[in-house]
Amino acid sequence: MKIAIIGTGISAITLAKHLKKDNFITLFEKSRDVGGRISTRRSKLYEFDHGAQFFTAKNKDFKNFIAPIIKKNIIQRWDARFAEFKNNMILRQHTWDSEYPHYVGAPGMRNILKHLSDDLNIKLNTEIHNITKNNNDCWNLFNTNGENLGDYDWVISTAPAPQSASILPQIYKYHSQLLNKKMLGCFSLMLGFKEPLNLSWDAALISEADISWISVNSSKPMRPKGFTLLIHSTNAWADKNINNDPEKVKKHLIEVTSNIIGHDTSVAEHIDLHGWRYANIEKQEDSNSLIDYKNKLASCGDWLIHGRIESAFKAGLMLAKSINKEL
Ligand SMILES: Cc1cc2nc3c(=O)[nH]c(=O)nc-3n(C[C@H](O)[C@H](O)[C@H](O)COP(=O)(O)OP(=O)(O)OC[C@H]3O[C@@H](n4cnc5c(N)ncnc54)[C@H](O)[C@@H]3O)c2cc1C
Repeated sequence: MKIAIIGTGISAITLAKHLKKDNFITLFEKSRDVGGRISTRRSKLYEFDHGAQFFTAKNKDFKNFIAPIIKKNIIQRWDARFAEFKNNMILRQHTWDSEYPHYVGAPGMRNILKHLSDDLNIKLNTEIHNITKNNNDCWNLFNTNGENLGDYDWVISTAPAPQSASILPQIYKYHSQLLNKKMLGCFSLMLGFKEPLNLSWDAALISEADISWISVNSSKPMRPKGFTLLIHSTNAWADKNINNDPEKVKKHLIEVTSNIIGHDTSVAEHIDLHGWRYANIEKQEDSNSLIDYKNKLASCGDWLIHGRIESAFKAGLMLAKSINKEL
């Protein structure tokens, strides 16, 4: 079978790696690199994981999946000094340890996906606009220039639900379910400093503010020396300001961060911003795979379960197992 997978996030890569080996699988990715929301941005001196920050592993399948990557040191433990802030005050602090490991990619989060996708057939810089059925009962995929990218028996979209809804045709059995999945936004503010800030923590969860998270990205293993902070806005603030002037967004998030941590973060020599329109699903649920056997269409992603790396893995694995039974 010829199978087209749209996306190269963890759900797509998991799916591709677990589908039966005698299929011909092609992955299409709109960005210039793999990873999706597991992403790393590098400048000359600084590096930031501006999507997922870290992950944990509860499920046995996921633990087994990451074990060989841990052995290769591409996944490492981040034993961060963790703090919880409320109303600009630290409520609690403790250090993460081996009892409940918090993992990151090394030297960046994206390296996990780069490693996993080494042996896959991937077309980067290829945004799928739509798909149509041809006379041979196969699907044709079209990019944003209207070019036909070939014939496929199956098409599986792992793009966030609203994007999958715009790619997949309305005859897809679960099209209306895709439209009903609301995803929330998030801003990532990236700050690089000439001099390190003196902080008593490496990762902080923030409540009662327009930001929800700050990490000292440079405290993760194998990062460049340049001191970096990575700040996430709350989903609610991002959704209100996602179309706002990026300079205004930066200014506000810098002000809020400075107030909370008690340092003037506007002195950063490197300031960058990324807006995620579809950062995570509004509701946490545990939906089944959305496979339309009649039309040979399917979709999956973290949005089927929960906005976490482990959930995206689970969604990809669950879909591969179901499709394997059919092929
Ligand atoms: C800011 C932020 C912080 C997070 N923090 C954490 C965390 O600390 N821990 C944790 O476990 N999880 C975290 N997450 C969630 C985690 O990143 C996701 O759950 C996971 O990466 C989702 O993987 P996925 O494969 O389902 O989707 P994605 O990674 O979104 O993959 C979808 C892919 O589809 C591609 N695509 C979309 N449309 C098209 C198209 N038309 N044509 C071709 N390609 C297309 C996209 O470019 C993308 O590569 C965070 C997410 C964000 C945004």
